[in-house]
Amino acid sequence: MPTSIPAASSSQPIGRFAPSPTGELHLGSLTTALASFCHIKSISGKWLLRIEDTDTERCDSQFTEQILIDLEVLGLHWDGDVIYQSERIDIYNDYLSSNLYPLTYGCQCSRKSLERYWELKAIGESIDPQQANQKLLNRQRYPRCCLDAGFNKEQNKLRIQLPNYRIGFKDGIQGVQWDNPQKTLGDMVVRRQDGMINYILAASLDDGLQGVTHIMRGLDILPMTAAQISIMHAARLPAIDHWYHLPLICSPDGQKLSKQNLAQPIDTRNPSKLLNHALQLLQQPAVDRDTPTNMLKQAIAQWDNSPLQNMQSLNMPSI
Ligand code: GLU
Repeated sequence: MPTSIPAASSSQPIGRFAPSPTGELHLGSLTTALASFCHIKSISGKWLLRIEDTDTERCDSQFTEQILIDLEVLGLHWDGDVIYQSERIDIYNDYLSSNLYPLTYGCQCSRKSLERYWELKAIGESIDPQQANQKLLNRQRYPRCCLDAGFNKEQNKLRIQLPNYRIGFKDGIQGVQWDNPQKTLGDMVVRRQDGMINYILAASLDDGLQGVTHIMRGLDILPMTAAQISIMHAARLPAIDHWYHLPLICSPDGQKLSKQNLAQPIDTRNPSKLLNHALQLLQQPAVDRDTPTNMLKQAIAQWDNSPLQNMQSLNMPSI
């Protein structure tokens, strides 16, 4: 059995901010932090901070330090201790060898061998090669070549079987969502051959183990949510009651702000100005220019999700 038992369910709402330290905070990640903080505090909840640093190749402790400093400077104080996923690998592995064991299988497919598989399949089914990818992938993302191969689970990458039916959940911003994780994502890799634990597994387990009740995060993660729900269920962890996927921040030329797009790190030299800007982007009523703590108090008191309803993107004004 897993070594760590789920947190006892309490009636206090629990939210979290879970950055991956693969870069500094940018306006997109800051708005996620700010919105989840103000929202959970507006319902008298706790706001946890979890550093998602299992990807040792892409994460850097310097970014982690900078993220903590930026949050502090902006008055976004978290409750309790920071959790570092890189220190919790044993917990994830415990779940993989207990509750989740029956759903996992070792996989030896490489990107190349999968491309070849789809090519041959398209030829076999006389599908126009131009459309092959879309047509075949829409049916099933990973063709489960290794499902019954009985490959060693320790020495190969490990996939988890995801359900092939639609899972529904209510999203407090995007409305009711239905998604079939097998079609959207296919059986996902949860542990790489080198032992690295992937995001979907670590985040699903930690949200359950930390007793998180409210998840507010970027819309880019919405396609993962049905998979997360099914993994949490299979792990026998408490379900998340409230989901919110925030519109993505786009630069004036319509590009989504992300680390991949080399979004500028936030500049916290004038924290009040930055908070004001982020609150404006989040369509919140204006707050008086003051210390970050006082501005946040006001932002919490007047926090309102409704201007964000059904929005997919928020455009930064051109300067
Ligand atoms: N670690 C993810 C990121 O930085 C966020 C994950 C989540 O909120 O579930 O994009």
